[in-house]
Amino acid sequence: MHGIKVLMAKNFIDNLSEETRKGLKQKADSGIYPCSRVPLGYKLEKKDGKIMPVIDEENKEIVMRIFEYYATGLYSLDSLIQKIKEEGLFITSSLTKGMVAKKLTRSVVQRILRNPFYCGEFLWNGKLYKGIHAPLINNDIWDKAQEQLDRHRRGELSSKYNVIQFTFKGLFTCGECGRTITAERKIKPSGKEYVYYRCTKFGTQCSQKPVNEKNIDKQIIEILGNLEVPQNAISYITEGLKQSLYLKRDTEDKIREKSEMEKRKLQKRLDALYEDKLDNNISQEFYDHKFEEYSNRVEELDDKISRYTKADLGYYDLGSKVLELAKNAYSLYKKANSEEKRELLGFLLSNSVIKDGKVLVLYKKPFDKIYQRAQCSDWGGYRDLNPR
Ligand SMILES: [Zn+2]
Repeated sequence: MHGIKVLMAKNFIDNLSEETRKGLKQKADSGIYPCSRVPLGYKLEKKDGKIMPVIDEENKEIVMRIFEYYATGLYSLDSLIQKIKEEGLFITSSLTKGMVAKKLTRSVVQRILRNPFYCGEFLWNGKLYKGIHAPLINNDIWDKAQEQLDRHRRGELSSKYNVIQFTFKGLFTCGECGRTITAERKIKPSGKEYVYYRCTKFGTQCSQKPVNEKNIDKQIIEILGNLEVPQNAISYITEGLKQSLYLKRDTEDKIREKSEMEKRKLQKRLDALYEDKLDNNISQEFYDHKFEEYSNRVEELDDKISRYTKADLGYYDLGSKVLELAKNAYSLYKKANSEEKRELLGFLLSNSVIKDGKVLVLYKKPFDKIYQRAQCSDWGGYRDLNPR
């Protein structure tokens, strides 16, 4: 009797799972995603008596941006995450229960970018199905994003610079007509490659001729070589950096300390809550409710604190860069590769122009003051830089 019962029960369960499997297969064939969990940017809703994935208005933006930015080829996974954060986009917490990741990490973003669900298809049981759910992105963006992911995987792109950069592109405008100067790569009949820069001449009758990259490079080396930064100027910058540090201590650092204090307090509360739960002083429901409230807040604070930490590092990095650059622009430039030159000049120059093949540079703050006064010293007009 017992044996029969067991056999029947087992058979029933087998049948049941077979039926379920058939049902799911049917669902998938008709284009309905058969799983109970949907990717970020979608939620499940009952439509015409069937449970269907529909677009989640609250979270669709972040997914669309991830695809759009990544498809441009201008971002690595890391810089993409950074960009999304800078735009203030985040996963709304109403969806954080269940499978949806709370934070954008490299693997989360990669999974999103590889999920065909977003262009209207889905993978189920190792097979790709055409879905009837609304896609979040078009095929063009999907293809481009896949191409970028493949290139990254093959290691064609370094994580920092994802596109071919011309050293001086975007740094100069035309001294005659004011249009931007663009870069082009050409191959000579001899097979030798060279890069030249020319005025875009949009809507102008500009007479400027293209300039070879080597020529520009030579002129910049000469200009930087003639810069001289007197000791007073160095103390002037150091003083400025100190002032800015004091200001930071009074403002940003205070905010960060407050967040850290609140976090410690919450962690103590979480501890106490757990103890209450162990002692049966509170109900499971109350515990869950409070736990979620506290832990969500702790996560928010963690985020805030890490943003401040990052900003801090950037701050110190910038400070030491200003000093280093002011002192050693020439020698730094001379040993820099193309990308470093680009970075260095972007940091140093503003609104510089090229006219008749000649480079005329303007410096950004605070370099303008430093170098301007340094030049004054040539004709004896130099005064003490420190106003006090
Ligand atoms: Zn021009």
